[in-house]
Amino acid sequence: MTVYSGPVFEMAVNQFGVIADHLSIPHDERARLLMPKRSVTVSCPIHRDDGTIAVFEGYRVQHHLTLGPTKGGTRFATSVDLGEVAALAIWMSWKCALVGLPYGGAKGGVHVDPTSLSRTELEGLSRRYMQEMIPFVGPHTDVMAPDMGTNEQVMAWFMDTYSMYQGKTVTEIVTGKPVASGGTLGRREATGRGVAYLARRVLGLKSINFNDATAVIQGFGNVGSYTAIELASFGVKIIAVSDHTGALYDAKGLDVAALVAHVGKHGSLAGYSNELQYDPVGMLTLPCDVLVPAATERVIDAKVAAQLQCRILAEGANGPTTPDADLVLEQRQDAIFVIPDILCNSGGVVVSYFEWVQDLQQLFWEEEEVMHREYKILDRAFDQMVARAKRDKVSHRTAAMAIGVEKVRAAKTTRGLFP
Ligand code: GLU
Repeated sequence: MTVYSGPVFEMAVNQFGVIADHLSIPHDERARLLMPKRSVTVSCPIHRDDGTIAVFEGYRVQHHLTLGPTKGGTRFATSVDLGEVAALAIWMSWKCALVGLPYGGAKGGVHVDPTSLSRTELEGLSRRYMQEMIPFVGPHTDVMAPDMGTNEQVMAWFMDTYSMYQGKTVTEIVTGKPVASGGTLGRREATGRGVAYLARRVLGLKSINFNDATAVIQGFGNVGSYTAIELASFGVKIIAVSDHTGALYDAKGLDVAALVAHVGKHGSLAGYSNELQYDPVGMLTLPCDVLVPAATERVIDAKVAAQLQCRILAEGANGPTTPDADLVLEQRQDAIFVIPDILCNSGGVVVSYFEWVQDLQQLFWEEEEVMHREYKILDRAFDQMVARAKRDKVSHRTAAMAIGVEKVRAAKTTRGLFP
């Protein structure tokens, strides 16, 4: 029995089972590695603009505290429940360990459709959520960041709320803040830049000329839009994009700058073009060089995996590919190079780590330094993953997760079991 029920949590459990078998981890050691250390559920009451009171349920899950504070985003979405948040926290642990950050994984969220809130209501909810979390977070306990449905402004409200209760400014309590409030240069772009950088490495490995390459991007939030901008800057043609309002397809290539400007003005891709509308599910199986799922979990199941016509699957989202789809992709690994989520989208948390370090030291870096260090970490993790996959004859996901799980396990083993 566990409180973390649901399909996303089951997926994280399933994936861990594959890794634990691969690493021959004794059965009595597995729950200690997998099950979250702490989880908190809070009620967040807010005043609505119409004078009524609404209550939203919020969560925070801290997966393990063995390597340092926990780290991970806060999601405002209607999909949010304790099981989803727990799975995302577990993935953050493997991700942070894979790229060598001194963190355990965490994730939080509020079950809410943020587009249904006015700006005042969103501020009220953000502040109340952070206020409810004060006993459980801290710069050396648990450090939040943006995720789906939250952004720099929400992080600024989180930081301000925490700081007001402390009676001093504590910028290092969250990352992904505006640069004007202790954020770092390059955090906003970090995840998309990382996705595009790794996709470019694999295009190079496959000897695909960037100027002949095409990409399809599902999701046009922070990750999808910056991935599109970066890939386009390398000469890659973005032939399809989508968000929750629909998909757009143009074999000649979409105008990324115009799409970004439209979303900046109207909040979504809706209304950009009637002629270019396309089936949002069918989009995933379009022939292309790079497919970037950058929206949400479990969009590539076994059926979709069998129909994929991409050469590189660059997972910008967390958990976009189900374990059943992984089995299909293992059969297709000569045709499709998978860059698994915990590596592919790790640029975000890597630069969050840089932001935390800069805030703690009050010494701020140039954007070039942020990018240079981000790419160095991604290159190292990519090389380790590829070498491990080759050595053990396993998929890239198994290799990447095995490296992450092994590091957490080593830390737990050397520290010992208390008392
Ligand atoms: N929410 C992002 C992720 O899933 C970023 C987390 C962070 O920067 O701490 O990786």
